[in-house]
Amino acid sequence: MKRYNFFKATIVLSFFLWAGFHFAGAQYTPFDAKGVGGGDTPLSEELPTPEEQQQKKLRLFYTTYAVKKGDMVSTIAEKYGVSQDAIISINKLRNTRTLQIGQILKVPSIDGIPYKVKKGDTPESIADNYKISLEKLALVNTFTDNTVEPASMIFLPDAKLDWATLQEINGDLFKKPLKRRFRISSRYGWRNNPFRPGVRSFHNGIDMAAPRGTPIYAALAGRVIAAGYSKVYGNYIIIAHHSGYRTLYGHLHAIFTSRGAFVTPSSKIGIVGNTGMSTGPHLHFTIFKNGSTLNPAGLWN
Ligand SMILES: [Zn+2]
Repeated sequence: MKRYNFFKATIVLSFFLWAGFHFAGAQYTPFDAKGVGGGDTPLSEELPTPEEQQQKKLRLFYTTYAVKKGDMVSTIAEKYGVSQDAIISINKLRNTRTLQIGQILKVPSIDGIPYKVKKGDTPESIADNYKISLEKLALVNTFTDNTVEPASMIFLPDAKLDWATLQEINGDLFKKPLKRRFRISSRYGWRNNPFRPGVRSFHNGIDMAAPRGTPIYAALAGRVIAAGYSKVYGNYIIIAHHSGYRTLYGHLHAIFTSRGAFVTPSSKIGIVGNTGMSTGPHLHFTIFKNGSTLNPAGLWN
């Protein structure tokens, strides 16, 4: 039975191969130009052109995947033949260490990352910036000219996340500013305001309780853009880093650096204190990215 089916399939396939070649050939004979032998046309229309085949391959759609025990972003990416960057960016994973079993991930049919168009972008400038094929970019997003609507979401085939974003997502961009033992006395997020009982307020950093005099180090290399005193933070330092990151260190007992200095994670920039609005010796530490705060706990190892 099996053999018979195979035989039958071979005959059918052979016929189509023969028909395909025959009709395709017939199409190019000069006599066939205006509907003569018109029976050929429907079949030839069904054969995709190389462009259509390419477009089919570049059709962007998403499948869903439920995270199983032991899954990592890398193994899921490998299973679907896309990069980790694709899964991380499409699912807006802020930390690859916190995949939950049962969590639903979207997996794209082609490799690449989503991108929100900025003012002044053109398909050409985007392709240049991300070192990807303009032709492929245009095909996937069905661009018809060199313009693209600002703020629209598009897909960048074959594009990768930049180094800083990947480091941030992998949770090892920053070093802890205290190398000696500390206790987290207040986490990032909503809390009861320690100075206004009954009032909830947003704590934009982490409080690291440690004895007065504990050395404080820069969490990442950068330039000191502020070193001074404020009523809230007491003695404080702000450091500007690459890619729009800034870090703030508050309530210092003493500052060992000054505005304009270049510092690295081995630079001792000050010591823990209890200055400003503080209820005991601790370091208040905030990480900003382009002006918004991030939870430091997900960004250091
Ligand atoms: Zn604080």
